[in-house]
Amino acid sequence: MLSSDGVGGLLSDKPEEACGVFGVYAPGEDVSRLTYFGLHALQHRGQESAGIAVGDGASVVANKDMGLVTQVFDEGALSALTGHVAIGHTRYSTSGGHSSWEAAQPHLSTITDEIIALAHNGTLVNSHALGRRLVELGVTFRSSADSEVAAKLIGYFTQESHHMREGIRRTMELIEGAYAMVLITQEALYAFRDPHGIRPLVIGRLPEGRGWVVASETCGLDIVGAEYYRDVEPGEVIRINGTGPGGLIIEQAVPARPHALCIFEYVYFARPDSIIDNMNVYQARDAMGRRLAREAPVEADVVIGVPDSGVPSAIGYAGESGIPYIEGIVKNRYVGRTFIQPTQALRERGIRLKLNPLTSSIAGKRLVVVDDSIVRGNTARQLVAMLREAGAREIHLRIVSPPVCWPCFYGIDTDVQEQLISARMSVDEIAEHIGVDSLAYISEEGLVGCIQGRHQGYCTACFSGSYPVKITERQQQSSFCDTMKPQWWPQESQGMSALF
Ligand code: SF4
Repeated sequence: MLSSDGVGGLLSDKPEEACGVFGVYAPGEDVSRLTYFGLHALQHRGQESAGIAVGDGASVVANKDMGLVTQVFDEGALSALTGHVAIGHTRYSTSGGHSSWEAAQPHLSTITDEIIALAHNGTLVNSHALGRRLVELGVTFRSSADSEVAAKLIGYFTQESHHMREGIRRTMELIEGAYAMVLITQEALYAFRDPHGIRPLVIGRLPEGRGWVVASETCGLDIVGAEYYRDVEPGEVIRINGTGPGGLIIEQAVPARPHALCIFEYVYFARPDSIIDNMNVYQARDAMGRRLAREAPVEADVVIGVPDSGVPSAIGYAGESGIPYIEGIVKNRYVGRTFIQPTQALRERGIRLKLNPLTSSIAGKRLVVVDDSIVRGNTARQLVAMLREAGAREIHLRIVSPPVCWPCFYGIDTDVQEQLISARMSVDEIAEHIGVDSLAYISEEGLVGCIQGRHQGYCTACFSGSYPVKITERQQQSSFCDTMKPQWWPQESQGMSALF
């Protein structure tokens, strides 16, 4: 379900996506237009702001603003962005507080007299401490976004080492958390991914060797006609400054750690036509529905799915159980595409602004309703009330993720545990609260078993509380942590200013 509703968070009861990133190196091609379409395919990952930066061999320029890709860019804006290398970003703010122009990406930074642009999907858990240090040392920031901290660190270390890859590598030694980042100089494109691989990042090749593309999901490659080449593996940094195979340089910048791809990419965030870590998202959702049908069977007349991400799992549930699948809820795809605030009367319609039941299909029926998750519980309650009004005789809610009891600190906006209904109530209490006849969730073991990615190993911290990256700063708001210091970091007696 595309949950960033654009109507004041009114319909938001799902984890919000964190961002989409895209990059292209293709001399002779209209790289800003390719990026525009790449961002279109990644729009579901962030709908608050959009931006494109382009390098032309002499400089880097960017255009970014609040709004959807189509609201930020028109022919005139794209025509002004010429060059051979570009990156783009669609943002949902999870770090850096409120949505603001300053926090929109790509971020521009200056290294000596060279400009770089950086775009980031994920969240750094130690950016406050690193940012505080940089501020103490006189570095100025335009926003409180963690991505700007990363850009400033890369700038410093590149200046010191005179090599961008070394600047990125040293930054990767310091930053902790989830990141899939793309960066351009006036000449080249870089992409790098955190050592656990929490957020996805793939490389593709344009036809006839015309250039290279990187994107958060393969749907971003498909839209520009690029063929999947490989993933950016955890801890890798890639540099692209040529169109042929020799133009792509891959380096293991920091050692990979246990693989911990966010399992919610398969449940909810990613588009169903994307392939993540060699596993098609639609197939994963279908398998989750089938597994749930085995784990939590129920007698019913029809199975319906909550659009969009609940539908493939509902089809899977129906296939496994033998209960017919029907379309029972229609989604208004365009209400989330406006920043116009609804009137109070419309606001009170809640979920009905976005979803409408097919009364003729569901009246008098015993329904199995399949959805991806219950996070805060408010829209589930409204959904059930809406289906009852439409005449549903029984409602059996089946959820293809285990109860979300723990907050996410890696780029998804569920970072207040008190807001999570499963942290406060038992399954029976939630069933009563939202008004269903029965409620069941897939098991964690069942969910993980449905995903046959190339690497086994997923972040399941939302369900288990087992975080792949320690959340030191959020817990303690402590200053720079000794255990994070790599060998080259100076001893305290030398003073931090020795570095900067
Ligand atoms: S905590 Fe949850 S949403 Fe966050 S990365 Fe892990 S599985 Fe994904």
